[in-house]
Amino acid sequence: MTRAILLQGQQVPYILKRSTRKTIGLRVASGQLEVSVPRALTLKFVEQILQERQDWILQKVQETRSVLWELKDGLQGHIAGSPVTFLIQDVPKISLLDQQILIPQDTPREALKAFLIQKGPELVASRVQHWAEKIQVQPVKVRITRAQRRWGSMNARGILALSVGTLLLEPDLLDYVLVHELCHLHHLNHSAEYWTCVERFLPDFEDRHQRVKHQGGVLTGLF
Ligand SMILES: [Zn+2]
Repeated sequence: MTRAILLQGQQVPYILKRSTRKTIGLRVASGQLEVSVPRALTLKFVEQILQERQDWILQKVQETRSVLWELKDGLQGHIAGSPVTFLIQDVPKISLLDQQILIPQDTPREALKAFLIQKGPELVASRVQHWAEKIQVQPVKVRITRAQRRWGSMNARGILALSVGTLLLEPDLLDYVLVHELCHLHHLNHSAEYWTCVERFLPDFEDRHQRVKHQGGVLTGLF
């Protein structure tokens, strides 16, 4: 259930989840506060806790708030790491030519997603190959998905799945997602050895990892 609380003059919406848990959990992701509490806890008590933790909450909400992304005519962005201008016009079908993508105006987001799912593997292939050679792995195939909560995944069979949203990331963040997933072909976990692999190819991976977390707006803006 979504509620809101006034903290230092700001309305802060939060999702209240009641469950059989015995402790109170506060979590902030993409600027959204989630509060998990034992079933019987009164709302008054919940609000008191939120008041007590207000500095932490406001800081986290600010830090993790997504950068907004809205598909509109004239938007400058990237597709598979290459710069592109999004043009929404009275055209019968979507087409990508010379750093411009022409998108029909009736259902632009759907048209863009369908296009990326179909053409994405080809558009991102050279970038995937570039990193695969460096990392000395070979994914068997790239699939573009409609995942809304993750940028990418790698399975044990070597199929690299990327969300449509990943194809719209800035080049350095797209590279982060690719290196992250390709290193999973050496280590199918997030062990210390795994992160050593990521760091070897992207020494500033921590910074990119933080920045990519703030790009959730690309996913919410697409769906
Ligand atoms: Zn991972």
